[in-house]
Amino acid sequence: MELGNEDVMFLAGNRIRCRRCSARSKRTKLRCGAPAMRGKKACATHGSKSTGPRTEQGKANSAKANLKNGKYTKQAQTEHSEASAQLSQLEDAMYLLGMSDAPRCTGRKAKGYTPITSVDGVRTMLIGTKTD
Ligand SMILES: [Zn+2]
Repeated sequence: MELGNEDVMFLAGNRIRCRRCSARSKRTKLRCGAPAMRGKKACATHGSKSTGPRTEQGKANSAKANLKNGKYTKQAQTEHSEASAQLSQLEDAMYLLGMSDAPRCTGRKAKGYTPITSVDGVRTMLIGTKTD
């Protein structure tokens, strides 16, 4: 990775070339003058010493604290994907039964979508979704 001029600093009389901490002061708006820790982007004061949560309880607490609305959880995304696939299949059925001649939806179809190409396919889909 190429470092910019601002990202590099020299220590010990130009004998040590290292990355400069990327933290910026809220008060003075100046960049931190300390060297970053090895393999990190910040100095120890600005977060590089943190290893994040280690225990299962700590990881759970962190996940809970960082969850805002659950829109991007695995479960919510899977549900959304399944609903999108079902909607695409309904669109297929609509066109097969001659209910619309408007332009088709373009773009990528949801994961799990299987196109319906015949009226028998529509019947099979309806049998699968019938609840009463
Ligand atoms: Zn720093």
